[in-house]
Parts: sequence; structure tokens; C-alpha cells
Amino acid sequence: MVDSAPEPVATPNDEDESTAEASHHRHFILFQAVPSWLVSMLVHMLVLVLLGLVSIADPVKIVNVLSASSNGEEGPEIEEFTIEEVDPGEIAESEEMTEPMVDMPESMDTIEPMAVDVPMDVAMVPVNVSDFAAEMAPSGEALQSLSSMTSQSFGSRSSDMKKKLLREYGGNSSSESAVNKALRWIALHQMPNGGWTFQHTLVCRGACGNPGDAKHAKTLNAATALALLPFLGAGQTHLAGEYKETVRRGLLFLAQNGKSKNFGGMQMLDFTEPGGTLYSHGLVAILLCEAYAMTEDPALMVPAQQALNFTYYAQNPSDGGWRYSPRSAQQSDTSVTGWLVMAMKSGYMGHLNVPPDAVKGSIKFLDRVGSNNGSLYGYTDKITSISGRGGCTAIGLLCRMYTGWDKTHPGIQQGVKNLMKIGVDKKDIYYNYYAAQVLRHYGGPDWDKFNVELRDWLVAAQETKAGANGSWHFQDSKSHRGPIEGGRLASTAFATMILEVYYRHMPLYANDAAEDDFPL
Ligand SMILES: [Zn+2]
Repeated sequence: MVDSAPEPVATPNDEDESTAEASHHRHFILFQAVPSWLVSMLVHMLVLVLLGLVSIADPVKIVNVLSASSNGEEGPEIEEFTIEEVDPGEIAESEEMTEPMVDMPESMDTIEPMAVDVPMDVAMVPVNVSDFAAEMAPSGEALQSLSSMTSQSFGSRSSDMKKKLLREYGGNSSSESAVNKALRWIALHQMPNGGWTFQHTLVCRGACGNPGDAKHAKTLNAATALALLPFLGAGQTHLAGEYKETVRRGLLFLAQNGKSKNFGGMQMLDFTEPGGTLYSHGLVAILLCEAYAMTEDPALMVPAQQALNFTYYAQNPSDGGWRYSPRSAQQSDTSVTGWLVMAMKSGYMGHLNVPPDAVKGSIKFLDRVGSNNGSLYGYTDKITSISGRGGCTAIGLLCRMYTGWDKTHPGIQQGVKNLMKIGVDKKDIYYNYYAAQVLRHYGGPDWDKFNVELRDWLVAAQETKAGANGSWHFQDSKSHRGPIEGGRLASTAFATMILEVYYRHMPLYANDAAEDDFPL
């Protein structure tokens, strides 16, 4: 396999960050109409709710409850290490980069308890989903109430549905046990401030080793989002499940890390950061949108929408994709664009506002880098062979599936054949992550073959020794595929999400997939 030019997962931001004041006209519907006091209030409410100071969630509504029952294979194992205090110098360094939201000047203890009925005003925020529905929703999908829609969208992660899908789509008790062990390893590596770092050995004092590249040591938003996504994938949220405190602290860490910006009256939350750029932003946007869609927690609505707003702002106006920095003068690339398309899709599933122009832009970009009827995708240009470009091709195909191509489309059919030429690539977990999603949606014998090999390899490759128990480290990984940049934490997050592929998103093309079950 030729390992040619990189498909970087994270690259230092070598461009000056675009400013929100750039003269560019785009119109966003949602927050132009929302007074700043309301936005401010909602941000405060988010913090209060995440801190557990007020409770506005009706637990009856929560459908994505994971029973998290043990299958009996695991006893109450005690990890060899405990989370002790991290060197204060290290934490201080980590926290230097955290910028509190602009609208949050008060210290927490000065915030007066608000009336519990205040968050109900959130329902008055106009969320326009009808435009986007025409772009990305199955035809005939009617607008439904938020509650019924979201419960179905991510209902695949609920306990009963999980078991059913796990069985039907190729998971087994070993893969599910691996997921449970992985979640425990990830939870044990949470920093005292609620976030995660690719330098996770700071937390466990080297009990497991293999931290990420030092230049990504401050890429905390990406590390935290990657750490939390597998919890959501398993149905664990900040409101339900055995890890709800872990998830709550992680979401709070991120909420405090977003840079609040205003562009033309549009409020935005920017999660770019050194070493992570728009990769970090995309991961956080996906996370916030998924958490909101799963829980319907009103406190998450504004942060999720504002993260999407920055996504639209950051889109390259010339080619419709995304590169490392907002509105980059460079050509967009498929790798970054993939995360941001997924963010829009997650937002759509949460009935947040996703402008049709933003979706059309991403399709325009896919057209530009796609070739052979849309069965091959390059990094910034068209390619003629999948060699060295398995990751980009898998990302491109998944984006196509999410933007309307069905399994009879020649690009999808030939694209699946292209992926099967590679099969499982044990040196590229990033490719496997996307290829698994494409093939799982596609189904059939190709998925069965790919899944068995990938699943059984991952289950066998999971660490069992003390300290590292439940994690993954891919010794021979190619550069720019995640494990080198993000270390054991990134490897574990990708592997876990692969083993959640059976239920994490509803299958797009299953015969019995209702239109309401439109995934991600
Ligand atoms: Zn460790």
C-alpha cells in the first residue's frame, strides 16, 4: 500500500485565524432574531444545569437509557492506578488555553438560582428545519415534534434497540464487552477539570503509556470530544447511564472552552484550538449536537446551534468544504470536511438549524474531489486509484450517503468495491472507522466479511494488562491517521466507536428502516 501524501487527522494551524469581522454575507436565520440577553441567559443556564445546580430535565422523556448491565464476564475489577492529583504545573498549563465564554463574567457562586421555568423559553427560539429537510431528509418526511423525532433518531442507542441491532448487524457479546471495558478506561483518564488530553499519561502517571504527539498536547477540545463520543454512542449521556457524571463534567469542560463570537448578529461558538484547528471544532460540534438530540436537554440547544453556526461561518466560500482554519485560502480537504458534514448531520437530527446552502456547498466539494462516478475521493483533488486514499474515499462515500445517494447509485456500488479491495487496514484505524460505517450502511456479504475481520481483530487487540486494560494502541499505525497524533486515547476512541457501529447510527438502507429512523 502506497502511503502517499497525508490525510492528516490533526495538523497545527499554520494560518492566521480568520476573524469574525470578515466581510462576507451569509444569512442565518436562527440567532439573528434572538436578543443577546436571551443568549446570555441560556449560556448561564447551561452552566447551571451541567453543574447540577438546577434540574430541568424530565427523566421520563429520556429514552436513550443504557442499562449497562454486565454480561457477567467482568467482575468488579479494580484498576491498578487511581486518578490522583496531576502535577499542578501540568494542569495549570492545560488550563491556560481555556477561554471562558465572553458572557460569563460572574463567578459561579454569585449566580442566583433561577426560576426553574425559565428554560421553557428555549422552546420559543425559532428553529427552522424545514429548509434543510428538503435537502437531506428522506422525501415525505413531515416535521414532527422534537420529542418524537429525536427519540427515534438516536433510539438505536437505547438498551432494547441496542441489543436488537447488535445481534442483527454483526456485533456479539465479545464486542460489547470490549466497548464496556473501553468506556471504563476512557473514564479513568478524565482530568480533574473534566476534560481529556492526548497526553493521558499525565492522568494515570504512565500506567498505560503511548501518549499522543507532544505537539498536540494542548488539543484538549478534540481529546475531550473524542473521549465523550463513545459514551454517547453507547447511550450514555449526562442525564442517564452509569457514566452520566463523567459525561456531564466533560460537557461542562467543553462549554467553558468555546470561544464566543458574533458575526453579523449571529452568535457562534468556536472550538478551534492549537494543534486541532477545525478538526477540534467538528468533533465538538458533533458531540454537542448528538448530546442535545439524545437528551433534548434545552441547556445544550444554544451551544449546539452556535457550534453549528461557526461551522457555517468557517466553510470555504470558494469550494464549499473546510480546511484547517476558518475560510481558509487553501483548498479544502476531504478529511476535515468529513467531520463538519457529520456535525451538520448530527445537528439536523437534533432539529437544529442547518442552512441548505451549507449542505449544497459540501456536495459541491464532494463533486470536486470525487471521480469515477463518485466512487473515489482524493484529499484535495480527484484521484484515479484508491491506493493510499482509502480514508478519503471512505469519508467521501459516507458523506454521499448522508447527502442523498442511495445504495443503487453507481458511485456507492463501485465505491464499496473499491473499499473491499483494501478490506480491513490494520495500520489505519481512521480509514477503518469510516469504511465500517459505509459498509455497515451498505450491508450484505461485503459488510459481513469486513465486519467479522475488523470486529475480531479489535476484540483481540484490546489491551488486557493492568492500567491499559480496555484500551488500544496501534503500534504500526501510519502517520496522520490518528493514533500517532492522539495516542492511546484517540486509538481507543476510534476502536470503541467502530465496535458501536451496529447501533450507534440507524442503518440508512436497511429494508425495515423507517424514514423516521434517518441516522446521524
Ligand atoms: Zn493510562
